[in-house]
Amino acid sequence: MKKAIVVGSGAGGATVARELQGKFSVTILEAGREFRPFALNLSLPERLKKSGLFFDERLIQLLCPAMKIRKSNEGLILVNGVALGGSTALSTGSAVRVDQDLKELGIDLDVEFEEIYREIPVSTGHLKLWHKTTKRLFEICKEMNLAPRPTPKMVNYDLCLNCGRCTMGCPQGAKWDSRQFLQTALDGGAHLITSCRVEKVLIKEGMAAGVQARMGWQRKFFPADLIILAAGGLATPLILQNSGIACDSNLFVDPVLCVAAEWKESLQNKEIPMPFIVQKENFILAPYFDHLSFFFNKDWKFPARNTLGIMIKLADSNTGTISGKKIQKALTEQDKKRLAAGVEICTDILTRLGVEKDRIFLGSINAGHPGGMLRLTRQEAETLHNGRLPENLYVADATLFPESTGNPPILTIIALAKRISKLCS
Ligand SMILES: Cc1cc2nc3c(=O)[nH]c(=O)nc-3n(C[C@H](O)[C@H](O)[C@H](O)COP(=O)(O)OP(=O)(O)OC[C@H]3O[C@@H](n4cnc5c(N)ncnc54)[C@H](O)[C@@H]3O)c2cc1C
Ligand code: SF4
Repeated sequence: MKKAIVVGSGAGGATVARELQGKFSVTILEAGREFRPFALNLSLPERLKKSGLFFDERLIQLLCPAMKIRKSNEGLILVNGVALGGSTALSTGSAVRVDQDLKELGIDLDVEFEEIYREIPVSTGHLKLWHKTTKRLFEICKEMNLAPRPTPKMVNYDLCLNCGRCTMGCPQGAKWDSRQFLQTALDGGAHLITSCRVEKVLIKEGMAAGVQARMGWQRKFFPADLIILAAGGLATPLILQNSGIACDSNLFVDPVLCVAAEWKESLQNKEIPMPFIVQKENFILAPYFDHLSFFFNKDWKFPARNTLGIMIKLADSNTGTISGKKIQKALTEQDKKRLAAGVEICTDILTRLGVEKDRIFLGSINAGHPGGMLRLTRQEAETLHNGRLPENLYVADATLFPESTGNPPILTIIALAKRISKLCS
């Protein structure tokens, strides 16, 4: 049987591995290790916060080793998961379909989404778990004609404890993440190699011959007939560039800014994150307890149970790039204006709740949905394959997205990865 190498075990990688195993002998190369959710009580780090130990967001790895934080040259905080399951293990479980831009290119993923909804349980069964303040925020948004809607979630609500820790990994196994697809691939005979960081694809006579990877101090070559890169929107472009394949300077990241206030017993830290979404043209709003800002931003000084936040998740401009280990990504003037518009609406919501305007504070801008550096065009609508790639090398992650969606992308990455699996097998 022909050999396929899949790089990464997140949304894109686990999907491709699951779909291709059997048609190929699949080996998944994953830079991280086994994923472990943060299991301790968060009141301990909350007490440690006062000691000044948490002075840089990168230290979040002390609490959650799989959560990797990098900063762009301009200081933007970039978050992703490096472990089995990739960033899906850190997700809030939000499951929306955001393929309008792909549809406009002529890529119709209806069949793949139908498959997804059969395979991944998606529901809004969390309404019963909402705390009083969230219910009130939902009503306020309705009164403001913001058309809030409960967020579809890939969570089994028979198991969910409403602990609010989805972004540090679900201790209950209630939240779906891509390790479930990975397990199906492994059950079907796929091989998994962890702590294996792919550096580049080796190209011989116009075809991909295999990948070079780093395992500890050693470098290893893995030959393959087919290679699929799904290392995420930051790592896939780096691997491509190391392999002599140019990417575009179109990096988007979906920046998140939280607008917060003290609100006694809001208990948002103990509630499913992003319970509802307000969709605006260039951003979404959603109630959200921002652990990064809570631990690392000096303005966040109230106890977790009394801290109430609303997230603005922006569809940012495609202007950013990666060269070597350096990431250039800054907010443009237009991004800042759009964020300011979001802050105004959040301020209105919070003041209607009863918060005094001058007691509202902001979080640290952080982003976890990178992509766009090898974006699909109309010419590739049938093949999903960029002409710069050898014919046996594919990309299956948000690197292919034409634009930032400003929305949770997991389901759309899975749908694309499913289509790519059909095209390359
Ligand atoms: C905190 C957080 C919450 C989120 N919540 C949601 C949500 O609720 N809903 C939603 O739809 N989206 C959410 N997202 C975004 C979503 O998780 C990602 O967009 C999605 O997982 C990306 O899929 P991917 O396969 O491209 O990359 P990832 O899921 O990040 O997987 C990439 C994998 O590749 C591995 N890897 C990286 N480099 C290499 C290398 N060189 N060699 C080998 N392996 C490598 C990584 O370890 C990782 O396992 C969230 C993101 C974050 C950070
Ligand atoms: S809120 Fe529910 S889904 Fe999220 S981590 Fe807790 S138990 Fe898991």
